[in-house]
Amino acid sequence: MALDQLERAARQVAASGTVTVLTGAGISTDSGIPDFRGPNGVWTKNPAAERMFTLQTYLTDPELRRRSWRDRAEHAAWTAQPNSGHRALVELERSARMGALVTQNIDGLHQAAGSGRVIEVHGTLHAAQCLSCGARSPMQVVLARVTAGEPDPPCELCGGLLKSATVSFGQALDPQVWRAAVSAARAGDLLLVAGSSLQVQPVASLCDVAVGSGARLLIMNAEATPYDALADVVVREPLAEAPPAVVGSVLARD
Ligand code: NAD
Repeated sequence: MALDQLERAARQVAASGTVTVLTGAGISTDSGIPDFRGPNGVWTKNPAAERMFTLQTYLTDPELRRRSWRDRAEHAAWTAQPNSGHRALVELERSARMGALVTQNIDGLHQAAGSGRVIEVHGTLHAAQCLSCGARSPMQVVLARVTAGEPDPPCELCGGLLKSATVSFGQALDPQVWRAAVSAARAGDLLLVAGSSLQVQPVASLCDVAVGSGARLLIMNAEATPYDALADVVVREPLAEAPPAVVGSVLARD
């Protein structure tokens, strides 16, 4: 069954001129970064943690902001290395089949692996941004201030609140980045989703956009998603194994 699904997935990728990829937290769990909703997810283990990710709470709760900065300083992303799932997507890009890689991840591991055409729809942990004036600075510069004794460092330009340049619940997506993601979903003749529960909107709706534009849908995820019924193929194998197996099989046909 599993082999059959992997073979069907490889045939789909091989038959596609342009593959658009959409990744989620699941592709980075094998790099040691927990997801939110998987069996060992941050929110599965501690549902109250979800509160921390709303913009409104961040704006109004100074203690939560201080905890957020401590958590950012200790985030697993600072030591994590890309895994074989990330690397397989680099191979796919180099095979000239991939149009763009849209990711919900904020960890920078696709870029660290060597992916070039990455669209970060939920922003990045590698930068901090002022919620008042919009000024951005490298996250490590702000984390150095936290370590030096500023538990909730303000913007040095305007005194506003700083936050990681990531999209929290209640915070709008960057319209330009979102337009690029929609264009990428429309441009592909296959949308390959890897490691997303597809429960976060509007990102999950990229599946509808792709299928509505005539693309096929291939979902690689350990657990069921609301879009499985729309998919042509669903692969449940671990993401450190399925993308390398599928991409390897596709490249062997070239
Ligand atoms: P999610 O936590 O909602 O879902 C992850 C899915 O991946 C789950 O269904 C889980 O079963 C599956 N999964 C986990 N490890 C897997 C593996 N090794 N093999 C196969 N499947 C596996 O994640 P999402 O859909 O990306 O949710 C959206 C939000 O999570 C995004 O906004 C994203 O910014 C945020 N997030 C990002 C990171 C990161 O950057 N690494 C980490 C945690 C959360």
